Amino acid sequence: MSEVRVGLVIEDDQDIRELVRVVLSQAGFDVHVASTGSAGVTSARELNPDVITLDLGLPDIDGFEVARQIRKSSDAYIIMLTARAEELDTLMGLEAGGDDYLTKPFRPRELRARVEAMMRRPRASSDSKSVPEAVDPEVSHNGLAVSAGSRTAVLNGTELKLTRTEFDLLLALLETGRIVRTKSDLARRLRNEPYDVGSYVSDADERAVEVHMGNLRKKLGDSIQAPRWLETVRGVGYRLAPASSNN
Ligand code: CA
Repeated sequence: MSEVRVGLVIEDDQDIRELVRVVLSQAGFDVHVASTGSAGVTSARELNPDVITLDLGLPDIDGFEVARQIRKSSDAYIIMLTARAEELDTLMGLEAGGDDYLTKPFRPRELRARVEAMMRRPRASSDSKSVPEAVDPEVSHNGLAVSAGSRTAVLNGTELKLTRTEFDLLLALLETGRIVRTKSDLARRLRNEPYDVGSYVSDADERAVEVHMGNLRKKLGDSIQAPRWLETVRGVGYRLAPASSNN
């Protein structure tokens, strides 16, 4: 990966903006900054960044709305930064299109770890070497055609606009089929950790998986009661719904 990776910091607080800028620079990013939501949306469109850190409390546009607007044109990995520890803010941020979140004050090392975990995840590109071995490069299930190589999901001839996190969760279920994946297993998968490593997963991280799964279900138009793809195993996690006979 020799191409330059671009980072965008959307933050109105100058000290935090500088802190995040330094962290991303040290992680090898070409970093741009924006101090308002509208400037951030414009920069995201123009720069096509790989990673965006997004403050929720911006002076002009609400951070949730900024995320929604960015998502119209970008598949950047969005880390929401919130000064408020309320879980609700986190969940709303993820519903608006965020991939991950950090609560201020955060340790620079923590931010760097999140960004680096993300960069180990494959990105939509021709980089087919990064296809996980456990899944076929092209797989079709109940009419949904998924290409792990080009990171696309096509349903009824239309390509779904999935965030990277949604795509990775879908891929995780396709890999293991009818085997149930726990929420903590899936949270570790998003951090690119092996699922038997037993690292700490918080309740909020598990809730985040639920929110991403809910977003994914909406985009698929899938049903909770009669799922074609995402089957909820109550109190445990998720697995791939069975293949339907008429498909
Ligand atoms: Ca702020």
